[in-house]
Parts: sequence; structure tokens; C-alpha cells
Amino acid sequence: MVRDNHIFSLIQDELYRQQNSIELIASENFASLQVIEAMGTVLTNKYAEGYPGKRYYGGCEFVDQIENIAIDRLKKIFNLSWANVQPHSGSQANAAVFQACIKPGDKILGLNLAMGGHLTHGSSANFSGKNYQTLFYGLHPDTGLVDYNQLEEIALKERPKMIICGGSAYSRDWDYKRVRDVADRIGAIVLADIAHPAGLIAKKILNDPFDHCHIVTSTTHKTLRGPRGGVIMLRHDFENPLGIKDPKGKIRPMSQVLDLSVFPGTQGGPLEHVIAAKAIAFGEVLTEEFTVYTQQIISNAQAMASEFITRGYNLVGGGTDNHLILIDLRNKNLTGKQAQEILEKVNITTNKNTIPFDDKSPLITSGIRVGVPAITTRGLKETDTIKIVDLIDRTLMHADNDVEIQQVKKEVALFIKSFPIYPEL
Ligand SMILES: *Cc1c(COP(=O)(O)O)cnc(C)c1O
Repeated sequence: MVRDNHIFSLIQDELYRQQNSIELIASENFASLQVIEAMGTVLTNKYAEGYPGKRYYGGCEFVDQIENIAIDRLKKIFNLSWANVQPHSGSQANAAVFQACIKPGDKILGLNLAMGGHLTHGSSANFSGKNYQTLFYGLHPDTGLVDYNQLEEIALKERPKMIICGGSAYSRDWDYKRVRDVADRIGAIVLADIAHPAGLIAKKILNDPFDHCHIVTSTTHKTLRGPRGGVIMLRHDFENPLGIKDPKGKIRPMSQVLDLSVFPGTQGGPLEHVIAAKAIAFGEVLTEEFTVYTQQIISNAQAMASEFITRGYNLVGGGTDNHLILIDLRNKNLTGKQAQEILEKVNITTNKNTIPFDDKSPLITSGIRVGVPAITTRGLKETDTIKIVDLIDRTLMHADNDVEIQQVKKEVALFIKSFPIYPEL
């Protein structure tokens, strides 16, 4: 067969892009070489519908061992009673949970997408908004923090079947207990979607959702620094609220309902090459090195946030507890779209993001989201993040000055060279 040089050269271009830019997209990270290696293996050839020990295909001896190791390591990280490592993505994990717990037309209550929520928490463009009646809570206009009073008010009035905690652009920690207390008053299930902060929760740097939320989902590629994928987790199993009975008339526990909801409910064969990479990443999370990594994430985010504040930038929520910062650019007379595009010119990668009560559309926005997991993986420390804020500030303040833009671009290239990533490639 002829080697497909076209695709391989584009992959090489992407490697150079990652090596030569400052990556500040809060949902991205650099997986280790062994995680990447595992994904490019013969495991991709294997069909393994079902679960370890209960597959629909022969030849699953080795993938069974791999999947069991992934499950065991994940259980150890978060002290779980049960986990499913098969969801192909965070969105797939949420789809499986919804299908297991609620019926089409039921009410769900999540954080408004425009205030930091996620598409799968009820956006009208997503299955979650099409199949369920959606209700939203938001952030408080004065503090930029989750408005738990509003959440409670809507929950008691509308009695949703499920309340969802978590989001994609929220820089503060969550009060999971408060949400559970509300849910218990109306018999609702609480889902915590920790796609973003999972790595920080793993190291107990942020509040633990597992004792308060019935079900927890996550991606594996954000702060967990694994391959692109999803997981569903339970610390405490419980009787399923739909009362689904097995052939002997017994009501199944939630863990079994969730397993069935992933396969055959919403997916076919699992991606065992990705599950192998998940197992490796979970092994990395269990190390002391990863503990140090997550502590550095917090130090870097704190250093960056205070430097932005010093330079007159307004941060939503007034700062950060986690790995990300949401900057309100309205006082700088820039839209999020403009800022993202100018920064891209100097090879600093961010994303435009709506801010609470934004008057601009999601395609324009008034903010940018900045995260430190990727640069922290590259080895950047507090003083380096302060240097990055300087580069960002100079770029944004001289958007029309091409000489300055070219100068910053040169400085970015020189600066990031001293933090090599994937030198082996
Ligand atoms: C990133 C994210 C997801 C979805 O992950 P995908 O793997 O992109 O489907 C789900 N929920 C939240 C809160 C996220 O931030």
C-alpha cells in the first residue's frame, strides 16, 4: 500500500503548531508520549462489545485485562465503587446517564451555557435540549458566582428530575452539598460533570463531588491529561429511580443500568486502544508527579489571574479556584472574537467565550477563556505565566500596530522554544 504522505505531513504540521504556540485553551492538554503511543496500536482492530468477562466476541483475553486495569485505577483515583471507561467522549458519557436516569420530556436543570455551562446540559442545539424540558440556573450578576438561591427557587418550583452541576467556563469551585440538599427535597438525581476540573478533584485540591452527587461524569483529556474520551463514575451505588426490573423481577442497581445505557444503549464496540491509553493516563494520575503537576496548575492560574487583575483586566467571578480564567474584555474595548484572532497572529491560542449577561452573540462574545493545564504540562512556572500575561497584554493593547505584533510574535517563538514538548517526535 502507498503511504499516505499527505495526511502524515499534515499531522507533522499539527505537531509543529503545538510545539511552537502558547496553548491556553482551558480544555486542552498534552498527553504523555506513552498515552499517545497506546492509541496507535493494534487494539484498534479489536471488537469487544460488552464488558470484561461478558463480551459478544471471542479473542478478548487481553483487552479484558486492559479494561479491568483502567477501571481499577479509576476507582482508586476517586475512591469509587463502580466505573465505566467506555464512553467515547464526555458528551457520550452524559448521553448515557440521561438515557439511564430520565425519560424524554422530563425536566432537567443545568447551568446556562451562556454563563459557563455545557452544550450537553440542555442547549437547544443539543440532544439534551431537544429530548428534555430544559431549565437553567445562572451566575449572580454581582458576584459572578453560581446563584444557588436561583437554582433552589427554580428546582422547588419546577421539580426537575435531574440537576446538573459543572461547566466549561466556570473558574470557581462548586457547592455540591448545597445542590444535593435541594435535590433531596424534590427527589431529583444530581449529576456532577467534572469534565474540566477532574484532575484537580483527583488530588483533593477542589471540593469532592462524589459523596453528594449521585452520578459523576468526566472527560479524560482535559486536566486528567489522558486520551480523548469519557467516563462515568459512582462512589455509592443506589437503586435506579426508573425501577427497571431484571428477568427475576429484581430492581437493578444504578451501576447496572448505566452499564446497559453505555452498551448497548448508546454505543456499540468500545475503543480499546483508547481504553488502554486511559489506563496509562490513570496510572500517571496516581503518581506523586501528577500531584505536583496539579499543585503547579493552581499556582500558575493564581499567578496569571493576579497579573491580569494588576493590568486592569476584569475576571468573571473575581479570580479563579481552578485551572481557568474567564476575562471580561468590555472595559478594554475588545470583543472576544477580536482578542482570539489577534492572539492567534502571535501564536497564543485562546478561545472567545461568552461572559455572564453578555450582550454579544456566541460567535462574537465579550470574553476570552484562558487555561493553564497545557502550559503547566510543558513545565511553565509562575514567573513564566506572568511573562505570558505581558505578551497577551501587549498584543491586545497594540492590536493595530503591526510592528509591535511582529515583535511579540518573535518573542513568543523564542520564549516557548525553551519549553520543549514531544522532542522525541
Ligand atoms: C468538555 C466537556 C464535555 C464534553 O466533552 P467531549 O469529550 O468534547 O464530548 C462535557 N461536559 C463538560 C462540562 C465539558 O467541559
